[in-house]
Amino acid sequence: MRWLLVVALLAAATAYALETDHFIVYSDESNLATNLANYLEEAYSFYVGKGLKPTPPCQGSKYPVYVDASNSYAGDTEIGDRCIWRIVFKPGYTRRLVFHEVAHVFFESYKHYAQDFWVDEAVPEAMASVATGVYYFPPMYFRERLYRVNPFALGADRLYDWYKYSAPVAWYLERAGNWADVLTAFSTQQTAASLYVRFLLELNRGITLGQTRYEPEREAVEVAPGAVRKYPICPATRLFTQRVCAAGRRGLRISAEGAGHVALGV
Ligand SMILES: [Zn+2]
Repeated sequence: MRWLLVVALLAAATAYALETDHFIVYSDESNLATNLANYLEEAYSFYVGKGLKPTPPCQGSKYPVYVDASNSYAGDTEIGDRCIWRIVFKPGYTRRLVFHEVAHVFFESYKHYAQDFWVDEAVPEAMASVATGVYYFPPMYFRERLYRVNPFALGADRLYDWYKYSAPVAWYLERAGNWADVLTAFSTQQTAASLYVRFLLELNRGITLGQTRYEPEREAVEVAPGAVRKYPICPATRLFTQRVCAAGRRGLRISAEGAGHVALGV
């Protein structure tokens, strides 16, 4: 009885199905399904226009999309083995979020690694930011001075921060005509690392992202004269944001000491 009731409720909850060129949207509200379907197709054609190819659906020829108020996340893309099972949204989704989930459909076909790391969310969020012009997460990267934190050291427990690292990826996407090269480059740890370091070097001079100018917040490091052996030590990612004031006239010595540290001395 209870089981039948659940089935009846599920049937009622997904009573409305709207089929578009690439998606089938299931929702109990036709207005909501139409609105969502428009965003989905808009995102799909935007990414195709950027030279990207999508990962196919796991079953059938169209991606199933559900509106489900009980879903754990505001948006969720279930990825199979090089295919997409389904996309789920809560009713309060935004256009940017729809572009983010559809970005997963495309980024998945460029990934060349098995383990999770920050680009998993940084790349789709960067794609959504540049596509919609709504830069929600990238300003947090600068505000929270995340350029001081090595993103490769952030595990899944810092998942929310992965989205903020959309800033460096968006900076590359804004400057690229064809996005396939950027997605391919960010899909391996080694090339992602070299792009990230290049971004930090540019940030040191100040960058423009989403029509906003950003410069790193700097902290002064004073190196006393004669400090031959006791050098201040800072992680390499912070070196870009430090203004070193060397006392005396003998010049500044910078030496690498391994383990990602750089020593300064006069
Ligand atoms: Zn995501």
